[in-house]
Amino acid sequence: MYTIMEERLLEVRHLKKYFKTGKNGILKAVDDVSFCIRKGETLGIVGESGCGKTTCARTCMGIYDATEGEVLYKGRNVSGLRGKERQRFTKEVQMIFQDPYASLDPRMKVRDIIAEGMLAHKMADSGRQCADRIKELLTTVGLLAGHMDRYVHEFSGGQRQRIGIARALAVEPELLVCDEPISALDVSIQAQIVNLLIKLQKERGLTYMFIAHDLSMVKYISDRTAVMYLGKIVETAGADVLCRNPKHPYTQALLSAVPIPDPEAEAGKKRIPLEGELPSPIGPGSGCPFFGRCPRAMELCRYEEPKLREVEKGHFTACHLYKEESDSAGPVPGGAGLRSGNVG
Ligand code: SF4
Repeated sequence: MYTIMEERLLEVRHLKKYFKTGKNGILKAVDDVSFCIRKGETLGIVGESGCGKTTCARTCMGIYDATEGEVLYKGRNVSGLRGKERQRFTKEVQMIFQDPYASLDPRMKVRDIIAEGMLAHKMADSGRQCADRIKELLTTVGLLAGHMDRYVHEFSGGQRQRIGIARALAVEPELLVCDEPISALDVSIQAQIVNLLIKLQKERGLTYMFIAHDLSMVKYISDRTAVMYLGKIVETAGADVLCRNPKHPYTQALLSAVPIPDPEAEAGKKRIPLEGELPSPIGPGSGCPFFGRCPRAMELCRYEEPKLREVEKGHFTACHLYKEESDSAGPVPGGAGLRSGNVG
């Protein structure tokens, strides 16, 4: 990975995003989430569909207004950015979308798609200058300069995602919010896109928020990983630590589903089945949100919601099985020393 600078590029503090549903229903898509992303690092955010990770990303981008909490970019509250500061934010923070078929207009030429942002931000002032830059970007993402005069519908899914990446790079961003950029692609293509993102990060010092619904690719690209469940972060740690020593039963179940390349190890691996569906985030009851699916649930979990707390240095989890680090971490039958953790 690119050398991580200590500068906090993005800081999310107690973010909530609720949507009204029906007459009195409230969907708590993001419910008190805090994290930060330092310059040059990749934060992976993982969870099943519907856990709130995309809503969280979109609220960070300013696409949705936060219900409560703050999103700070370079120390400035995103919701208060106006004029030139707003323009700088929309240039420096770019998104790569999940579906390369839906996110690019198939009737547009590649050159027009990539040029759009550059022209909007006045980063190219002549047709020639713009064309040279488009050719350079296409080769950077593994396409051919000659592809610029072709239409998007002529490309495969993987190639379209490369065009999406070139479009994002065109405005020289600092933070790329990658919203499930590989989920719609074949497994063999997924690895190529992840490798391309890693290469670009090394070359350009980019910072990533990388969202995915399983841990298989996230563990390769992330420096730190946060696991979301029902609108909340339930575990976060360095990516290696989280994969080697997952604490939360939900993370353990997610990891047990990740295939191991070694056939012997794969055959001996114990799978932890995830029973049932993700519960509805509309007015979830009290207690641990994972209670109904957790193989290790206790009576306490039924009525007391566990807070996210540091159980080892830099390793946070929201589960009554663990004590806070300062209370000598380790599995315990009940919770103690609860506090709301700011992760980062
Ligand atoms: Fe399972 Fe209880 Fe931990 Fe929730 S708090 S994950 S129900 S053990």
